[in-house]
Amino acid sequence: MASLEMHVSYPLDAAVVSRLVSANSPGNYALGRLTEDQSTFLISFVGRADNDLRKPLLFWAGEGSFTHFKFSYASSVRAAFEKECANYHDFGGSEKLQNTNHPARPAGKRWQCPRCRVFDTTITVDKRPEPTAKNEELKSRR
Ligand SMILES: [Zn+2]
Repeated sequence: MASLEMHVSYPLDAAVVSRLVSANSPGNYALGRLTEDQSTFLISFVGRADNDLRKPLLFWAGEGSFTHFKFSYASSVRAAFEKECANYHDFGGSEKLQNTNHPARPAGKRWQCPRCRVFDTTITVDKRPEPTAKNEELKSRR
């Protein structure tokens, strides 16, 4: 059976997130709800954070679509990326999850999904435009 490799679920609430989840750490999360008898976490969405796991969870707590979450910290951005890919595939991808797309690579990285070749066959725009250097002071002359 597929596993998220995460521990128990918690109510997806801003106060709970702030109390339990450290900021400034990469990590992974899953969003969903509990079955009526509260025994099982039904996963609807998987995600990751490259540098601040608390931030997306606070967003989702405010967004209101999901009632519970699970999370885990990652030792590196790459570990978070690879775990997100594994979670995504293990739980049915975009057909079963509410994730509309395959997890994206962190900006500028050429890492492959450990489970599929999506990045070989798709033209992906994973580089965000870099800020233009403005070292030169522009002077206007008349
Ligand atoms: Zn994949």
